[in-house]
Amino acid sequence: MTRRHWMNLLRTWGLGAGAATAAGSASVAAPAAPAAAPARSDRVQLSAAEWRQRLNAAQFDVLREEGTEPPHSSPLNAEKRAGTYQCAGCALPLFSSSAKYESGTGWPSFHTPLPQALGMRTDYKLLLPRTEYHCARCGGHQGHVFSDGPRPSGLRYCNNGVALRFVPEAA
Ligand SMILES: [Zn+2]
Repeated sequence: MTRRHWMNLLRTWGLGAGAATAAGSASVAAPAAPAAAPARSDRVQLSAAEWRQRLNAAQFDVLREEGTEPPHSSPLNAEKRAGTYQCAGCALPLFSSSAKYESGTGWPSFHTPLPQALGMRTDYKLLLPRTEYHCARCGGHQGHVFSDGPRPSGLRYCNNGVALRFVPEAA
């Protein structure tokens, strides 16, 4: 497909260069990102080289390059204990085990994040808009949020297991 055909296709879908910015605030397919939370004062900012030292290759691919792990690959899919799911990059607590549920997708899924834990933005990697979310402290990519989750939020936070570290509650 030539570049011109491609641009025409994008325009047909309302995703041309101009539309992309406008669609960010009111997408149909993806839940709207909530109003921007105030920037954290404890932000972790490291260079790519520093992240490569701190993370293994799979973690780096997801957290810093927005990769997606293969479905059913994470041991955290089967994790049922009470505890907290932390960012594998900076250890910020992101989800409580009480918000985890079995979505059947092959990725650890949650219906509600911990307060102030996540930042969001709309991404167009698959052309149709999706809401990307990341750790609010280090910016590490975690997953995407969809509006087919269970009550009460109706949201599904589809998370890469490799981007999380599970800390069981002390018995
Ligand atoms: Zn983090």
